Amino acid sequence: MTPINLTIPQNLVIEFNKDSSNLPPVSFRFGFAPGQPSLGEPGKNAGDILLIKENGVSVLQVSLGAREKCSSETFRKAGGLVGKWLRNNPVTNIHLSGDIVREVLIPDALPAFLEGLRLGSYQYIARKKADPPQTITVTVTDAGEPDATENMINKVMVVTDAVLMSREWAHEPANVINPVTLAESADIIAQQSGLKCLILDDQDLEALQAGAILAVGRGSKTPPRMIILEYSGNDSPPGAKPIVLVGKAITFDTGGYSLKGVDNIQGMKYDKSGGVSVLSILYAASQLRIRTPLIGIIAAAENMISSDSYRPDDILTSLSGKTIEIVSTDAEGRLVLADALTYTQRIFRPRAIVDIATLTGGVVVALGRLRAGIMGNNQDLIDALIDAGDKTMERLWQLPLDDDYFPQTKGDDADLKNSGGREGSSIMGGIFLKQFVDDSVPWAHLDIAGVADSPKDAPYAPKGATGFGVRLLLKYLETIE
Ligand SMILES: [Zn+2]
Repeated sequence: MTPINLTIPQNLVIEFNKDSSNLPPVSFRFGFAPGQPSLGEPGKNAGDILLIKENGVSVLQVSLGAREKCSSETFRKAGGLVGKWLRNNPVTNIHLSGDIVREVLIPDALPAFLEGLRLGSYQYIARKKADPPQTITVTVTDAGEPDATENMINKVMVVTDAVLMSREWAHEPANVINPVTLAESADIIAQQSGLKCLILDDQDLEALQAGAILAVGRGSKTPPRMIILEYSGNDSPPGAKPIVLVGKAITFDTGGYSLKGVDNIQGMKYDKSGGVSVLSILYAASQLRIRTPLIGIIAAAENMISSDSYRPDDILTSLSGKTIEIVSTDAEGRLVLADALTYTQRIFRPRAIVDIATLTGGVVVALGRLRAGIMGNNQDLIDALIDAGDKTMERLWQLPLDDDYFPQTKGDDADLKNSGGREGSSIMGGIFLKQFVDDSVPWAHLDIAGVADSPKDAPYAPKGATGFGVRLLLKYLETIE
């Protein structure tokens, strides 16, 4: 199989202009509602946009809504709506003076606005015949100390590149991305960014006796892969333990013999979102040269139906040796993650493990589409992740994980069963995974099933894959000494 050439979309590029020469003909201006009495009153809502001519100069006037409600998130949202506007209007070069943002006195307003601009300009068009849109260039001047500004812009570009990469790869359908092509493409990204990459193919997984991931992928003609990416850290002390990120990448989830219905099978290409986010985070970590060593493990399989598929009632022996009775072949995410978690702890000595997965429909029922669920065995780690989520507005909400929940996922004829029924189903996913993590290793599980893709446009994320988790986990990794 030939690897697919997946690039990071560059719809909008941010540049820093140190000496304020040759500025683009259109400039930004921000205003609060009502305000700005004469020339082009900005709209009431944050992100309302007006293109006006003022003494022969073009100005793009952007409303920030009510002054008392303005936060860095307002700037991110306004940026997102402007990014979308620019995509649909013939303005391709625009100037942003840092002075106009500084006046607002909101910390991180400028990076938030730039982040929004890039994220909002995104569209998944890779498979459309139409000509690619013109690249929009935003030139930043007067944003304070030049080196700091340059670093800030570089960071915004890398972090948003990672989000866009995650979105783009999640959007790619299952006839393009399957476990094999995902592994091959991850290997290319790894080579380009100086990451070590090890791919365990189905034969390697057989030799290891990773019976859970193998069972999930058995029904597909493209067999499962475990993709291991390694970033060695920048100037970290010798022997520093790595943070391990584990991502679920079910490249398509039919549900298997516990088949999904017509209404909820569409969109199952997004069941690889956690895995592609892990890949994107490793890419960004290498570009940002973050301090901590980092391992990314992507458990990739396609959950299909054939005479080789696993069945309800089957009893699998996982890599850990624990046996698992299959209640539902649609609860496959925890199976591939179980083997990935075991492998992680056998090979590496993780300082902490964070897994990220579109795991349960139950989390959508519990938390809707605004927050992801977080569970784990270490409150400090959970608190640090929740804090990073608040800062990036990729928000988390903690669900309980008392061991008293365990009997619900204890097997009848095996050590465990892979579904504990509808009651507390997200917690059941968590408590199942907990059985594969040593209590001495801090571990958190992010259930992103409600937030990995969006059924409608949001200010800085169009309908479809959101790249949720990339900004939050990069923010968390930044804090690790
Ligand atoms: Zn499933």
